[in-house]
Amino acid sequence: MNKSFHALVVNKIEQSFSRRIESLTLNDLPEAGVLIRVCYSGINYKDSLAAIPNGHILKNYPFVPGIDLSGIVVSSEDPRFKKDDPVIVTGYGLGVSHFGGFSEYARIPADWIVPLPSGLTLKEAMRIGTAGFTAALSVFRLEQAGIAPDKGEVIVTGASGGVGSHAVALLSDLGYSVVASSGKSAEASSYLKMLGAQSVIAREAVFDGTVKPLQKQQWTSAVDSVGGKPLAGLLGRMRYGGYVAACGLAAGSELPATVFPFILRGVNLLGIDSVSCPMELRQVIWQRLAELHKPEKLAAIAQKEIPLSQLPNALPALLSGKKIGRTIVILN
Ligand code: NDP
Repeated sequence: MNKSFHALVVNKIEQSFSRRIESLTLNDLPEAGVLIRVCYSGINYKDSLAAIPNGHILKNYPFVPGIDLSGIVVSSEDPRFKKDDPVIVTGYGLGVSHFGGFSEYARIPADWIVPLPSGLTLKEAMRIGTAGFTAALSVFRLEQAGIAPDKGEVIVTGASGGVGSHAVALLSDLGYSVVASSGKSAEASSYLKMLGAQSVIAREAVFDGTVKPLQKQQWTSAVDSVGGKPLAGLLGRMRYGGYVAACGLAAGSELPATVFPFILRGVNLLGIDSVSCPMELRQVIWQRLAELHKPEKLAAIAQKEIPLSQLPNALPALLSGKKIGRTIVILN
C-alpha cells in the first residue's frame, strides 16, 4: 500500500521559504515505527516557530511540523501496539527532527507512543496536547517540592496562552487559589475566571519593565510560561522559600536576574521539560490529566478547531501573543 494523503510541508531553499499543504505518500514518512492515522493535532508556540523562516526549530527541509498528535494505529510491528489502538504522541523528536502531527498519517517510533488513557477521547487529548501536559508536569513538580493549596497563592504567567490556560484550570480544580497574570487582562478576564482564576492581574503587575532584585513578597508558587525579563521580575516577588516552575520563553530566553531571591529568600527555580520527559512519568501525567480533566473547561480552552487547509495561515498568527487558549487541528 502506498496511499497518498495530505500534510503541511515547510521548505526552505536558500532565501526562499514555503509553508503549504502538499500530497505525500507513505513512502515519504520515516521508515521505521508504528503507522498512525492522525485524527487531531494542535498548535503550540514551537509549531509556529517551526513554520517561519528563522524560527530556529528545524534543521532539515522539506519537513512536516506538528509536535502533537492523537490517532489510531493502522499497523505496528511492535508488540506493544496493534491495529485500531487509540494513541497520543507528544515531544521527543516529533515535529522537530521527525515528521510530525500536521499530517493525515505519521510513522512514529513505538518508544514515543502513549496509549490513550481511558476517560479521554482523542479530541480531548489534543485539547490538552503539549500545552496541557506541560502545565500538568509543572503542577506535579510543584507538588513534589511540597507546594499544596494551603501554602498560599500560585501565580500563572502568560495565563491566556495554551500552557497558561491549562495551568489555571488544573490548579484551580486541585483547590489552589490562582492569580492569573495576562497581557490581555481586560479581554481575557472572564475567560480566565471561568477556568478558575481567583483574580486576574495585568502583566505589568508582575514585571513593570525594570528588573529589581527584591520586591514585595507576593506568591508562594508560580507556573511561568513567559521566561525572559518578566521571569527575573517574578523571582523578586516570590515569597520566602517559594517555587517557580519555569517552562517557557514567550518573552525571551535570557534570564537577566540576580542571585538575591535565591540566597536571601530561598526561592527555588524548577526546570520543566516536556520533550524528553521519561515515558514512565509521561504516562503518570497523562493518566492524571485523564482523571482530572473537566470536558467543559477543555472545550473552552480549545474553542478553535481548524482543518489542515487553514494551518498555513493559523500557524504564524500564534506568535502575535494575541490568541487566547489553544487551537486544535482536525485531520481525519
Ligand atoms: P502561547 O502562545 O499559546 O502562549 C504564550 C502566552 O505568553 C501568550 O498568550 C501571552 O499570554 C504570553 N506572552 C506572549 N508574548 C509575551 C511577551 N512578550 N511578554 C510576556 N508575555 C508574553 O504559547 P504556549 O502556551 O504554547 O507556550 C508558552 C511557552 O511555553 C512557549 O515559550 C513555549 O515554547 C513553552 N513551552 C515549553 C514546553 C516545555 O517543555 N518546557 C512545552 C510547551 C511550551 P498573556 O497575554 O496572557 O500574557
